[in-house]
Amino acid sequence: MAIQILNRKKAKKVDFMQFLSGVPARGYVFQRTPYEEQVKEAAELLKAADAVLIGAGAGLSTAAGMNYGGKRFTDNFGEFIEKYGSAMMDMYSAGFYPFPTEEEKWGYWSKHACLNRIWPDALPLYREVCDLVKDTPHFVLTTNVDHQFWKAGFADEDIFATQGDYGEIQCARGCHDKVYDAVDLFLEMDQEREECKIPSSLVPKCPVCGGNMAMHLRCDQYFVEEEHWHEAAARYADFLRANQSKHVVLLELGVGFNTPTIIRFPFEKMVRENEKWSLIRLNLDEAVMPESLGRRAVGINEDIARSIKDISSCIGAAVGDSEDNSENREENGEEVRRR
Ligand SMILES: [Zn+2]
Repeated sequence: MAIQILNRKKAKKVDFMQFLSGVPARGYVFQRTPYEEQVKEAAELLKAADAVLIGAGAGLSTAAGMNYGGKRFTDNFGEFIEKYGSAMMDMYSAGFYPFPTEEEKWGYWSKHACLNRIWPDALPLYREVCDLVKDTPHFVLTTNVDHQFWKAGFADEDIFATQGDYGEIQCARGCHDKVYDAVDLFLEMDQEREECKIPSSLVPKCPVCGGNMAMHLRCDQYFVEEEHWHEAAARYADFLRANQSKHVVLLELGVGFNTPTIIRFPFEKMVRENEKWSLIRLNLDEAVMPESLGRRAVGINEDIARSIKDISSCIGAAVGDSEDNSENREENGEEVRRR
């Protein structure tokens, strides 16, 4: 009660946190409900859902094993670390390195794209998320650019990847609204790379202005929002409209505070404004929730891979064994769903 009164008093003053999310910082809590209880609550919400809106950030891919630092980085980028030194700390910082030539820039990015987007198959955790929602109408909003939702079996019309894709390139100055599939180009670059550089003959040039090309990633004002991007944005808006009066679960996976204005804060706002909607927030260490959402919010501060497994088995869907028992599950599908 004391917290509520404080919140009301502060409500008139718009501070930094209120401007961003509409909830004052002190309104957030780590829920004290025991883990097993939270898993049950999340499972109940998902079982009763008419539709599920997934919001996924970098934390999901990290939990799935797509680690950008540590051994995975040093094992794969040894020659880059040797050449460029301490600026190469992990795959995030390496992406911002001011490579002096296009040959070196694409030498790095082709490797990054192969490792994180082209070579990996669907990761088990993404498949489990797919299994969890496949029988309920769903939509995915994601800032991830590694293409995992497609690989895991989500339909293209159910995905809006707002920040680009490691498999595409665009004009570095965004001179025209088109992106280009670069998967084959990156594979070729990977074959031809020597001393961290690709041959000049493989450097892509903009077919319209003749200038340099860049990764299709939202990192500056030149990010191209092409036709497919706008179609996906429209489908996302349609999904929200169509489900306005239904029971929707917003399942937020690994969204931290890098770009909270795309998924995290809008999700809180939508749940606050629609009392039939609820929010499940799975996050390794940032699962704080606005206390005001009460029982419509479950914030599980735990390894997402563990939470998804436990929620899935709680629901009764035999997920987590997608590779070993997929045939078996197919046969028992009816029974599993009824349970
Ligand atoms: Zn151009």
